[in-house]
Amino acid sequence: MIGFVILLHKDDSFSFDNFKLLRSLIGHSSLAISNVMLRDQLQDLVNKDNLTKLFTRTYFDQYVASSIENGESGIFLLMDIDDFKLVNDTFGHYIGDIVLQQMASFISLKLDGIGFASRWGGEEIAIFLPNVSFESGVEFAQLLVKEIPAITEPSVTVSIGMGEWLPNEGTSFNELFQSIDKALYQAKGNGKNQFIIHGVASANGLC
Ligand code: GH3
Ligand code: MG
Ligand code: MG
Repeated sequence: MIGFVILLHKDDSFSFDNFKLLRSLIGHSSLAISNVMLRDQLQDLVNKDNLTKLFTRTYFDQYVASSIENGESGIFLLMDIDDFKLVNDTFGHYIGDIVLQQMASFISLKLDGIGFASRWGGEEIAIFLPNVSFESGVEFAQLLVKEIPAITEPSVTVSIGMGEWLPNEGTSFNELFQSIDKALYQAKGNGKNQFIIHGVASANGLC
């Protein structure tokens, strides 16, 4: 049940005409409310990934594009689960899916109000923190690297590439994202379970 209506009359009972009028009003408003709810559900089906409930890559791209158009700065993280194939091979795909869900709901909880995440690829997640300082971005990446092994069962570690988007810096968003992808690759090459900041050679989650 979504709601109900109680009508009180201080004197007599309602006339039959009044009753019919109210019934019609309630019928129409209920229909309007359920239409809005259905539209929201449909929107979620289009914009969100079914398994993780994170935003789709298409929605993420659109959101980022409009954010950049509005001249906003921000922090981007590209995260990939370490040795995830081994998790699937050892425990099966069903458990692999559960690990993805555990991670996604943890990220959504931590992001509440400060940014949003999308399922970028199979086990890759892209995160955008609009108008967040570089230091806060580093803190967030640190938190993910530290906490994800604790909240996943079986425990997995993650590698992250991080970069800062500053408007009027001369690089395109695509160039920045390619560099972040490279930073992620570097984090994998450096032994995984860490984050690397694009353009900051010595910084990683283990330092
Ligand atoms: P690395 O540390 O280098 O990232 O190694 P990896 O094993 O994580 O990387 P690789 O790219 O070899 O494997 C990624 C795996 O992620 C393979 C694929 O089966 C798995 N995967 C992708 N999407 C899903 C999914 O939706 N559910 C499950 N269970 N597995 C998925
Ligand atoms: Mg992986
Ligand atoms: Mg991958």
